[in-house]
This record gives sequence, C-alpha cells and structure tokens, in this order.
Amino acid sequence: MPEHRLVVVSNRIPTGEAPSGGLVVALHDALKERGGVWIGSSGSTAEGATEDLHTIAEEPYQRLSFDLSEQENEGYYLGYSNAVLWPLFHHRTDLIAVDTEHARIYQEVNAKVARMVARVVGPDDLIWIQDYHFLPLASELRKLGVDNRIGFFLHIPFPNSSDMPALPERRLMPDWLSAYDLVGLQTQRDVSNALDFLLRDGGAEILLRGRLRLGNRQFELRSFPIGIDVDAFATASTENAGAGERLRLGPGEKLVLGVDRLDYSKGIPNRVEAFGEYLRGRPDPEQRATLLQIAPPSRENVEAYRDIRHDLETISGRVNGEMAELDWTPVRYIRRNVPRDTLAGLYRRADACLVTPLADGMNLVAKEFVAAQDPENPGVLILSHFAGAAEQLDEALMVNPYDAVEAGKAIQKALDMPLHERRARHLSLIRSIRDYDITWWTEAYLGALQEAGPLRGS
Ligand code: ADP
Repeated sequence: MPEHRLVVVSNRIPTGEAPSGGLVVALHDALKERGGVWIGSSGSTAEGATEDLHTIAEEPYQRLSFDLSEQENEGYYLGYSNAVLWPLFHHRTDLIAVDTEHARIYQEVNAKVARMVARVVGPDDLIWIQDYHFLPLASELRKLGVDNRIGFFLHIPFPNSSDMPALPERRLMPDWLSAYDLVGLQTQRDVSNALDFLLRDGGAEILLRGRLRLGNRQFELRSFPIGIDVDAFATASTENAGAGERLRLGPGEKLVLGVDRLDYSKGIPNRVEAFGEYLRGRPDPEQRATLLQIAPPSRENVEAYRDIRHDLETISGRVNGEMAELDWTPVRYIRRNVPRDTLAGLYRRADACLVTPLADGMNLVAKEFVAAQDPENPGVLILSHFAGAAEQLDEALMVNPYDAVEAGKAIQKALDMPLHERRARHLSLIRSIRDYDITWWTEAYLGALQEAGPLRGS
C-alpha cells in the first residue's frame, strides 16, 4: 500500500532546529519518512486573531505555526483545555472551572484551526490530530468538506461515565469523536470508558470488528500505549552516569527519585507523605535515603496549580523538619527543568523511582527510568495503579498512591530488594518497553489509520 502524506496537528509545534522529547522525535521521524506538514501554535500571542500560517521550516517536511490572540489563549488553552478538560479527564471534577465564554472560544479556535488545516491538506493525505486541545477539530474539518482519513490520539485518560456529566458540552462529545476515523487511546481502561460513554450516552452502536456507528459515521476506538526511544535513553544514561555524584550522597545512602511536571494529577504531596512514612517505619534507623523530587512548575496561571505548589512545599518542609539530621536532609525538592541527559544519569543512579500519579494517561517517566537502568544492578520502579503504564508494567512494585503507609512499605521493599529479584523484574519491564517503543507506536497507529474506514455493506 502506498504511504500517504501525513498532516500532523498538535497544540504546540517545536520551533527549534533539533527536535527533542520522545513524542516530538517520533512525529518528526514519521513526517520525515512520509513527507507532509506539521501544524501547531507558536506559543506566542499576537495582537488580534489572525488566520496566517507562518513557515518555520520547509525541509525535511513543512512546519507551519499560527499565533493565538491573548483572548484565544485565555479561552481555548488556559480556560477550557487546562481548567475544564484536563481536570475532568484526570477525575478531578472538583477543580473544573466552568465558563461558557471559554467553551465558546475553544470551539471557535478549533473552527479556525480547521480552516487553516483545510487550506494545506491534499486529497490523499492522512491527518493525525494530537490531544485534548483539538477534540472538535475533525468535526470542524468535516463541515468544511474534508473527507480524508482523520485520526485522533488522546494522550491523557478518557473520563469515567460518572464524571462526564460535569462537562456542560458533553452532548457534543459523541459528534466530536465520531468525526474521526480512528480514535486512539492509551489503555484498555480508556477504551472501555470511551465505549461505555458512547454506547450508553452517545447513541453509538457496535458493528463488526469493534467498529462503531453513530449516525452516518463509522469509526474505530483502539488503544495504542505510547512508548519511548529506549536506546536514546539507555545511551544517555551511560554517558551521564556521573550525574548522581553531584548530589554528594553519604556512603551507602540510597537515592529515591521523583520526576514530574508540578501537576495535581501526579500525586507529589502524597508521595512525600509516603516517603515520610517509610522514614518513620524503617526497621534500621541507620538506613539513610534521600528523596530527590524534581518538579518544575507548569500552567501557573491556572489557580489549581498554585495550590499544589503550596501543598508540596508544606509537606516537604514538615518531613524535613521532623526527620533531618545536621548532616542529612531527606527531602530535596528542585523546582526547575533538568537537562534530559542529566535526568538520564540521575535515573541510573537512583535505587528506586516513585511514579505515583493519582491519574495519568501513560507516564513516560516510568518507561525512561527502566530504560536508563544498568541491567546488572537495576533500580526498582514503584508504580501507581492509576498510571496508564501500569497496564503494561506489572513487574513494577504496584502501589495505591492514596495509601501513604502502603506506599511507604513499598519504598522499604524496593530499597531492600535482593539483586536477583531486581534483575528479574527489570528484565521483564525492559522487554515490554522495547516491544512497545515509540517506533511501534507511530507505525501501529498510522497503519491502523490507513486501514480505517467504513466496512463494506454496513
Ligand atoms: P506529562 O506528559 O503529563 O508531563 P509524562 O511522564 O508522560 O508526563 O512525560 C513527562 C516528560 O517530561 C518526560 O519525558 C520527562 O522526562 C520530562 N520531564 C518531566 N519533568 C522534567 C524535569 N524536571 N526536567 C526535564 N524533563 C522533565
């Protein structure tokens, strides 16, 4: 089958020369191979709302960016995407900030982006839309007469049916989703949540081979767990294996690592609480461990993000106040980005990594940590049941992040785990991460999108 040209749309487009970050590199490679266009917002705000596309690069594929006005950024990005959809999809309906004006602007920006995309799309192109910022984009493209194959990938969880009533625009959602030919989700759990919603509340019906029909549209829902570039992380971790020395840990001192954007979905205060429980309960009071939590702030102009920072700083101070010694500060909290190479070296030095989100689409840190380990002497992954990665990585130490005592015991178990068990668990984890790496993800998704389409005779 000939490879179709690809048109990718994502909220932000990489503007630099050399793309970095797993997803960006994966999309970059797919576009390089097939040729095509990547369209996304520049991240800068313009004076008024325009529909101009600016060329960032022509080779090896076209990169086109658009600016948003202040008001569009406020309504579409901060207001609706990050203060309605993000909390809803992460089971935090208590944090949803409903605002009809923001909802209207979100839909308007999607209609505007659809007009820009329609201008560049050719008749045989595959269109691949990324993430929750653009749920209505295909339905807007269909209104403009675009009948190409259009795929969508949701990087965050799909909400439970019981949370969905909190979304004022929920009645539009079935039409938004069914305008795609293929809706890709991270996990089986997300597929069942989406199916439940579409069948019970959306009026969809199931056809053969798992396809769905809604009105005159047929579409498919499938999970494609996103992966990472395993070799790139493994290499960076060996090349930066000395990064841990900068921490100047004492002899025999253990390192427990947490790496996240500072987001309420990541369960960071709960994690520090669990580390406090571990310290209090450790049978050998001479055992010293440091929790290094790297958590740069994000979306600080959304209110809920200011609260989480306050919570984290309070709990870290409390645990340190209670447990620190003159020559030992058990919790170290760094509020800035760390270069990816340094991060890879720190992963390799860590005895355990705490990936304990309360809700997470996948969580790439879990996979990066495994890829960065020395197979002869690997560290232990402690993973929340609520990370999408838990569906694949069942050889991690699984914890309930809400239960600080249980998670504290898991930290103790990880730090005491014998070498043979660490190796066996790591071997199983790394196999799964290699089998489902980022190349698998793009190829599996695009292969399925290419074949998606109406069933004959139905
Ligand atoms: P999310 O996409 O919700 O932020 P993921 O765990 O899936 O969560 O992906 C986060 C990505 O950002 C990973 O690739 C990780 O390496 C990177 N990252 C997270 N925190 C930092 C940090 N403090 N410094 C540098 N990179 C970070």
